[in-house]
Amino acid sequence: MTDFAKTRAKFHIPPGVIYLDGNSLGPLPLAAEQRIAQCLNAEWGQHLVRAWNQAGWMSLPRLLGDKIGALIGAEPGCVVLGDTLSIKVFQALAAGLALNPARHVILSDDGNFPSDLYMAQGLLGLKGGDYRLKIVPPEEIAATLDDSVAVLLLTEVDYRTGRLHDMAALTRQAHACGIVTVWDLAHSAGAMPIDLAGCDVDFAVGCTYKYLNGGPGAPAFIYVAPRLTDRAEPALAGWLGHAAPFAFDLDYRPAASIDRMRVGTPPIIALAALDAALDVWAEVDLADVRRVSLDLGDLMIAEVAAQCPSLELASPLSRSLRGSQVTFRHQEGYAIMQALIERGVIGDFRAPDRVRFGVTPLYIGQGDIRAAVAILKEVMDQRLWDLPRHRTRALVT
Ligand SMILES: *Cc1c(COP(=O)(O)O)cnc(C)c1O
Repeated sequence: MTDFAKTRAKFHIPPGVIYLDGNSLGPLPLAAEQRIAQCLNAEWGQHLVRAWNQAGWMSLPRLLGDKIGALIGAEPGCVVLGDTLSIKVFQALAAGLALNPARHVILSDDGNFPSDLYMAQGLLGLKGGDYRLKIVPPEEIAATLDDSVAVLLLTEVDYRTGRLHDMAALTRQAHACGIVTVWDLAHSAGAMPIDLAGCDVDFAVGCTYKYLNGGPGAPAFIYVAPRLTDRAEPALAGWLGHAAPFAFDLDYRPAASIDRMRVGTPPIIALAALDAALDVWAEVDLADVRRVSLDLGDLMIAEVAAQCPSLELASPLSRSLRGSQVTFRHQEGYAIMQALIERGVIGDFRAPDRVRFGVTPLYIGQGDIRAAVAILKEVMDQRLWDLPRHRTRALVT
C-alpha cells in the first residue's frame, strides 16, 4: 500500500491551503526546486553548451518518456517528451490520417477539450478536400464507429465532468472497423492506471503539468505503438526528429525510433523540474491512487449532497465511470469558486456553470475533503459568494 503521508510530504502546499486543483496544475514537488537549481548552476552555469552531452540534456526527452511510459502502460522506448499537448495532438492526428489515407473523417466527442478539436479543425483545413471532423456526444461514440472513420480522437477523462471513457472497449471496437485511435491522457496520466499496450492503443498524448506535477507549461508527451513507429509520419518535420540531426542534411529523413516525434530543442529547465516530479512516483502504486481518489470523490459527493444541496452533481456517481475529479453545477459557480479560493480552498471553474475539484491522494486526504466542504457550506449558507469582486472574471478561471 502506498504511503500517502509520505507522498504528501514531498510537495509544497502553502499553509492554510486545501489544494483541489491538481487536475489543472499539480503542486510544486520539493525535489523540483533542488533539481532546477542544479540544472541552472551545475549544468547550464558550469557546463554551458557542453551540458547537452555532459549533463545528458539531449537524452532527457526519451529518458523522461520512459519514466512516464511506466505510468501509462507503454512499452519502453515508445514515449517522448516535447512541445505542448496541442502540438502533440496535431502530430498524432496527422500521423493517424496518413495511416488511413482512404478515409477522411476524424471522430471525437463534444466533451473533448476544445484545443484538441481546434487542432483537428486546423489540420483538416490544411488537408483540404472532403476531410471533416465529426463531433458527437460521448455516449454516442460507440454507435458512430464505422468504416468511414479514419481516426478516433478521444480524451479518456472529460475535463469538465470527469466522465471516463472505456479505453479498452472503444479501442477494440475502433480497430474492428479499421480506425486508428488517438487517446488524450491529459486527465488520466498520473490519476489512474492506464494500459496502453494492453489496450493496443495506436497513439496517445498527454500533458505533464496536471496529475504529473511537472510545473506550469511543462512539456507534453506522445506515445506511438511499437508496431507503428517506423510508419508514423511525424507531420512536423523538425531537425531533432531527423534520423541524424547533426548531419545537417538538406532533406528530412525521420528517425527510425520514437525520436521522430521530436520537433525542436527541448525545454531543459522545464524537463529538469519534471524529472524531479516523476521521481515521486517511484514509491507510488497507481492502483492505490485510483482506489483512494475514488474514495475521496465519493466522500466529497456525499458531503456536498448532505451539506450543500443547491450544488448539483455533474460528475458520474458510478466509480467505474468517473476519473479523478468531482464537478458540481451552480449558476453562480464562478463567484462561489472565488469565495472558496479566498478562504484557501482552491479548485477552479469551467464555463458555463461548473465548479471543479481535483481529488488527488498524493497530497489530499479525507480531512481535507471534510474541511473543504465545511467551508463550502459556509460560503453557500451565508451567501459569501454574493459580492461584486467575486463576479469579476479573471483571465484564467
Ligand atoms: C489541459 C488539456 C490541454 C491543454 O493543451 P496545452 O497545449 O498543454 O495547452 C489539451 N487537451 C486536453 C484534453 C487537456 O485536458
